[in-house]
Amino acid sequence: MPSTTNSLFLNQLGSIVGADHLFTDADKLQPSLTEPRGLYQGSAMALVRPATAGEVVNIVKTCAAAGVPMVPQSGNTSLCGGATAMSSQTIVLNLSRLTQIRQLDSTANSLVAEAGCIIANIQQAASEAGRLFPLSFAADGSAMIGGAIGTNAGGTNVLRYGNTRELVSGLEVVLANGDLLDDLRGLRKDNTGYDLTNLFIGAEGTLGIVTAAKLKLFAAPAQCHTAWLAIDQISAGIDLLSDLQQLSDGAVSGCELMSSTSLQFALRHQPGARAPMTTQAPWYLLLELTASDHFPLASLLEKRLSQALDDGQVRDVVIAQSLQQGEDFWAIREAISAAQKHEGGSIKHDIALPIQRLAKFVDATLPLLGQKLTDIRPCIFGHLGDGNLHFNLSQPVEMETSEFLAQWSEFNRLVHDQVDKFGGSISAEHGIGQLKREELVRYKSPVALQLMRQIKRALDPDDLMNPGKLLPDK
Ligand SMILES: Cc1cc2nc3c(=O)[nH]c(=O)nc-3n(C[C@H](O)[C@H](O)[C@H](O)COP(=O)(O)OP(=O)(O)OC[C@H]3O[C@@H](n4cnc5c(N)ncnc54)[C@H](O)[C@@H]3O)c2cc1C
Repeated sequence: MPSTTNSLFLNQLGSIVGADHLFTDADKLQPSLTEPRGLYQGSAMALVRPATAGEVVNIVKTCAAAGVPMVPQSGNTSLCGGATAMSSQTIVLNLSRLTQIRQLDSTANSLVAEAGCIIANIQQAASEAGRLFPLSFAADGSAMIGGAIGTNAGGTNVLRYGNTRELVSGLEVVLANGDLLDDLRGLRKDNTGYDLTNLFIGAEGTLGIVTAAKLKLFAAPAQCHTAWLAIDQISAGIDLLSDLQQLSDGAVSGCELMSSTSLQFALRHQPGARAPMTTQAPWYLLLELTASDHFPLASLLEKRLSQALDDGQVRDVVIAQSLQQGEDFWAIREAISAAQKHEGGSIKHDIALPIQRLAKFVDATLPLLGQKLTDIRPCIFGHLGDGNLHFNLSQPVEMETSEFLAQWSEFNRLVHDQVDKFGGSISAEHGIGQLKREELVRYKSPVALQLMRQIKRALDPDDLMNPGKLLPDK
């Protein structure tokens, strides 16, 4: 863009949001151009921070008229480079000033939140109204609902309450031409054609910009029981989970798996963390069950877990004796991602498998990794109940980080081919972003890819919405 046109365009943006919310200086842009893993260093013409949906509409219209692409950004915690702008011809459209909770209806169990509401603040608002907003993950203190919708975030409560997709009943979205699609009615029944809301969930900002969402709330559970288990086989954990779900009428809300390596990493690097038990095992499970007051959950859990101990299904069990002890268990689990950074280079895989094939997948894949690189340290953890593993590979201790990371594509190929063979998905909850665009070509069916391209062309013919993300170039 010529410099006079450029300054005219930037003036127009400035007049929409005010000079205080338009940034062009490199140091002001910098935080929005880096992403949590440091995999990408972005570039952009400007960062613009609107405060209302109306301002977003005007920005999008201005960009559409000037042919300037936009990268929607909320908390910037996504792990695939989805929110990182990669060209000095684009703008970062940051939604973090859209922070209103417009409505909370405890009779209808719903809440309307603007896109920049931090997930933890939505949880808090729901809790103050005696309700539960169940979306929860380690970055929920900085991730925002617009970003969670963009990535269809999962987290630790999916087993019971579903992904973000299942927690959204309506959306307000600014389309690529600046039109506002307003459907915040959140009707439970509405069979009037294509499900437009769902198109934008998990679209990673490539189809439109979410400005607000109607979210589902749930009864706040009156009792919560947490247990830490040591197990020898993943399959034993899966059998136990299935049994507990049956016995408790689906009260298991979380079932997290951790390998012994991932636990060691968390204990080594999380200040104050203490192992819940002294028993050593190849795998550990963190179970959480929640229910209303009337359900005899504590006795049911104790009985089933002591039976599991007697039968040798589990090696050891600790049931948390207080909410604090339960929270301490969770703090260990949530420390794993960050702890891995202190162990050098790490090649990540966010994969999903049919739960009945997950243990076989792990058994078949670990030896292949060892054959390829002795002393590689698989750091495997994740949401076992959802069949979702963070199948991460930490570098051998003695190896140069750069030498290890140079093998990123080769390890991706090995792991993802195995995932495909076992009928799984190469992206369970983090999305595609920039990181897995090429992988998509290999593993998504050509018919599905073609359909995705047609949808993109129909909604964003000029490729202005988060270009270079999600869809591969050809
Ligand atoms: C320590 C850690 C733990 C994590 N654990 C989990 C986990 O357990 N489960 C999980 O699913 N994810 C997890 N994540 C990934 C990440 O936190 C989620 O994907 C989160 O939902 C991203 O939200 P955000 O506000 O940071 O979005 P951003 O990073 O800002 O954006 C994410 C994507 O959505 C698009 N986008 C942003 N805002 C909008 C909008 N308003 N409208 C349309 N598109 C938009 C962006 O362009 C980008 O493609 C974790 C991340 C970290 C750092």
